[in-house]
This record gives sequence, C-alpha cells and structure tokens, in this order.
Amino acid sequence: MAERKLLRHVLKEYVDENGYLVTQLPGGFVDEEGAVIREVVIDEMDGKAEEILADPKYRARQQQGITAFIAYLLKRIGSAEATNDAVKHMLSGDRDFLMLKIRIHTLGNVWSTEIKCTSCGDMLPVVVDLDKLKIDAISDNDTRVVTGKLSRGYKDQKGAVHKDYEMRFPTGVDQEQVANVRNLSTMKTLLLNKCLKHLGSMKMVSDYDLRRMKYRERLELEDNLYNNLPGVSWAVDVVCSCGNEWEATLDLGSLFRSDQA
Ligand SMILES: [Zn+2]
Repeated sequence: MAERKLLRHVLKEYVDENGYLVTQLPGGFVDEEGAVIREVVIDEMDGKAEEILADPKYRARQQQGITAFIAYLLKRIGSAEATNDAVKHMLSGDRDFLMLKIRIHTLGNVWSTEIKCTSCGDMLPVVVDLDKLKIDAISDNDTRVVTGKLSRGYKDQKGAVHKDYEMRFPTGVDQEQVANVRNLSTMKTLLLNKCLKHLGSMKMVSDYDLRRMKYRERLELEDNLYNNLPGVSWAVDVVCSCGNEWEATLDLGSLFRSDQA
C-alpha cells in the first residue's frame, strides 16, 4: 500500500490591498515546468459570478459551470493568469477548496443549511462553521498518484489475476467528462477508468473490465483513492431530536445562498 500521510492543511492566507483573498491550495497546481504552485488569489462574487452560477446552460453540465465560475473569480495561480484551461486541470480537491474559499470570502464562514435526518426524515436546521471543515493537504514532494494491491485481485476474461495498481488523482477535466452521467455507479466506473493507470499487467483497463470487477475490489480502489485525496471534507456530525446521530455529507446546493434566517 502507498505510505502517504495526508497533512492537515496549514492556511497561510490574508486579504490584500485590492480586497482579494490570497491563500494556498491543499493539493497544488503543477505548471508546465512541473513546479508545484500553491498560492492563489481569489476575488469575491459579484453579479457576473452569480449569473455564471445560475446560467441554465450549465444546469446539465455543472462541472463546466464550476470551471467557468472559478476561472472568473480566480485572479491568478502563482504569478500566472488563471485560465479556464488551468482551472480544468486543477485537482478536484483544489477546485472544491476554491469553491469553499470563494464562499467564505463572499459571504463569511457561517452557513445555515438543512440536513434530512436519515432516521425520522425531519429536515434539521444546521449551522456550519465553514472555517472548521477539515482540509487535507499533500506536500510538494508527494506524487499525485495512489498505488496499492488488490487483496484478491481482478481475474480477467482469460483467467489472469491482476493485483498491483496505480491511480492518479482526478482533475476538473475528469469531473467535467463524467458529470453528465446520472447513474452514480456508472459515474464511478468512468472515473475509476480515467484514474486507473494500470492494473497488474493490464496497461489499459476498460469500462468492460471495471464492470466485471467484483464490488469488493471496486470499493478497495475507490477507498484508497478517496482516502488519499487532498481537499475539503464536507462531512459534519449531526444529532437529531429523535436520537439519531450520524456523519452527514453537506449538500452544496445552497452554499452560495445568503441566509437571513
Ligand atoms: Zn431524526
């Protein structure tokens, strides 16, 4: 298994003389020369940004909308201009981090939202301190791949068993390509396919193989990938008056709605 430890992201951030937030990416953007760039400069939302978020052309292509939204508000990555293309090639966790930071820089860290109780079904009002969400980081020297070994392996059609694998971290490009898929399991298949660089002696792992692969092995791949990704954890502990206590994943649909409650 890959011996990588995710680090607690240390935020060295400030608001500059233009009112922009200067902060550090938890994953880091790798430029054309292979240098890892951490520093990004973010503006707060204006009317145009709001229009991009609400643009109906992105309704069915949410990740493209997120790319356009981030690219509009990101003033620079290191010393370089933040183009649409650069934002697409950022790690998914860094894109998440930027959405979080844009929200905090625009509306503050307090977010009033609702979570449905998994037991009684009541909608619970929840106040989230966005500054307290856990953010995992990787160091500049960490590779942006996850390696591992499937415990049972994947047996291909010819009966050969494949165990060792290497996966790369998903980027905005991957997210954009799979975002239209409605079926969550199909989306996972496609995302695994994009990120899995090799499995045993198989250089190319097809959708066909990933569908034949047993659920247990798929979970091993997914767990190893998602447990090693830098980025924001949107999980919060919730307690309902019915006695139910659980860890909920926040629904980001209302992240940019200001709450007057
Ligand atoms: Zn309940």
